[in-house]
Amino acid sequence: MRVLDKAIVRVLPAVPRSIVRRVAAPYLAGPTLGDARRVVSELNGTGMRATVDVLGEEISRAGEAEEIARAYHAALEAIEADGLDANVSIKLTAFGLKFDPGLCRSLVAELVRAAEAKRIFVRIDMEDSSTTDETFELYRALRGQGHEGVGIVLQAALRRTLDDIAALAPLRPSVRLCKGIYIEPPAIAYQEFEVIRKSFVSALDALLETGCRPAIATHDEWLIERALERVAGLDQAAYELQMLLGIRVDRARELVAAGHPLRVYVPYGRQWYEYSLRRLQENPKVAGYVARDVLRRLVS
Ligand SMILES: Cc1cc2nc3c(=O)[nH]c(=O)nc-3n(C[C@H](O)[C@H](O)[C@H](O)COP(=O)(O)OP(=O)(O)OC[C@H]3O[C@@H](n4cnc5c(N)ncnc54)[C@H](O)[C@@H]3O)c2cc1C
Repeated sequence: MRVLDKAIVRVLPAVPRSIVRRVAAPYLAGPTLGDARRVVSELNGTGMRATVDVLGEEISRAGEAEEIARAYHAALEAIEADGLDANVSIKLTAFGLKFDPGLCRSLVAELVRAAEAKRIFVRIDMEDSSTTDETFELYRALRGQGHEGVGIVLQAALRRTLDDIAALAPLRPSVRLCKGIYIEPPAIAYQEFEVIRKSFVSALDALLETGCRPAIATHDEWLIERALERVAGLDQAAYELQMLLGIRVDRARELVAAGHPLRVYVPYGRQWYEYSLRRLQENPKVAGYVARDVLRRLVS
């Protein structure tokens, strides 16, 4: 399967957009805010929370960053107007981190202020390792300005993660813990599946020890089981499970039925193609799942 996965990743850019769109459809709310509102409302109806992501990381001009910021403000308005149980997840590169860090800082600070006024939480996604330090810096700056309604993401694949937890501990940060989707070099990141799993568990233990409220983001059953052992007996407010839209939907329902708080990541926006392609390319395994999905649909 591994060979097939890699082959699929290589040919993806040549796959017609219509097919990529169909393959990626379950993982995206759709192109418009209306799509995200509908999907979040449906998730809320099944007892799940949501976090809304406006697609659009691949940008190079200030106007594009401002457009993304406007889209997030509109998402906040919609969450408030519809009374949705949802927050937002942002990527700093979509706010101009790579070409105008000052603009990025001011757009994000403005968004965090607007979200706080509506009592909506803002999660800063973690991107590839070229942005890790700047992401922590901006997070610390926001916390330094007294903003509590903002959180960060840590990646178990990175060797630095336990040190980052220790360094951030005095802030009692809200942390989403995930494996990390970006392909990083061995010098800074674990490469082996089992080592990344172990690192995830160590990071989760460290987060719980610091008394922070972890958001445990994984579809890996082994990790879900380890996480459930650790949160057993904890108050529902002390943790949350998180999954991506369209992945392990039945398992998500089971976890909610068992009484666990669970949040689903809901990406929407016109840049669905870039998002889909990049995610598929970044993680060959995801391409494998997608191929299986397509085959299943073709034969059923
Ligand atoms: C809510 C959320 C937010 C995230 N935010 C970030 C972030 O900010 N930064 C970052 O680097 N990464 C982020 N990620 C991605 C994360 O780092 C992993 O790349 C991703 O979750 C896959 O790892 P896994 O732990 O689910 O384990 P995997 O071993 O990849 O998957 C476990 C199982 O899940 C199922 N599965 C996984 N993907 C699919 C799929 N596409 N279709 C069908 N089944 C599938 C399969 O059964 C698989 O065996 C986020 C993930 C989640 C859930």
